[in-house]
Amino acid sequence: MAETNLILMGPPGAGKGTQAEFIVERVGIPQISTGDMLREAVASGSDVGQRASEIMKRGDLVPDEVVIEIVRDRLRRDDCRPGFILDGFPRTREQAVALDALLGELGREPVRVVVLEVPEDELMRRILSRGEGRADDNEATVRKRLGVYRDSTAPVIDHYGQAVVRIDGLGSVEQIRDRVAAALGS
Ligand code: AMP
Repeated sequence: MAETNLILMGPPGAGKGTQAEFIVERVGIPQISTGDMLREAVASGSDVGQRASEIMKRGDLVPDEVVIEIVRDRLRRDDCRPGFILDGFPRTREQAVALDALLGELGREPVRVVVLEVPEDELMRRILSRGEGRADDNEATVRKRLGVYRDSTAPVIDHYGQAVVRIDGLGSVEQIRDRVAAALGS
């Protein structure tokens, strides 16, 4: 059976987590959210969590080696065999290069990259109204996160060349879900 190996990219507030959940249900592959895993680490007070906590509150990126290790452990698990949805990783060129190497080591099929595109003023509105109580959902930190996306993460899209499909991320969650499904042919 062909693998469904996906990377969901897009700025904070673009709807990656919501759309990942739809794909999980439809395709039956796990969502791998580095943000969720880091928040769990912070909540548990682990070494990684203690290292990441202040960085995340500021809206900066956790060091590449920390997130790469988390993803390496996760992708090796059996439930990722039919495929996976990476949500929030890679966010830097170094992470993308490390992911290439890891997928090569694991003998995995190529990834497809879904990019959710949403204008910045809409992102700010969405995040400030989502009320998840995240420590990094205040206006100053959101500005910082949007800047980090623009400077460090958006350029990574080019790394994937023809594997990229860009989706208009404006509209209802159902409209966007249908666009993603159509783009993936599922
Ligand atoms: P997210 O839930 O994806 O918005 O991530 C929340 C925060 O976790 C980010 O602002 C970063 O501080 C950290 N984080 C999540 N994924 C990564 C990653 N791939 N590289 C570095 N930091 C990350």
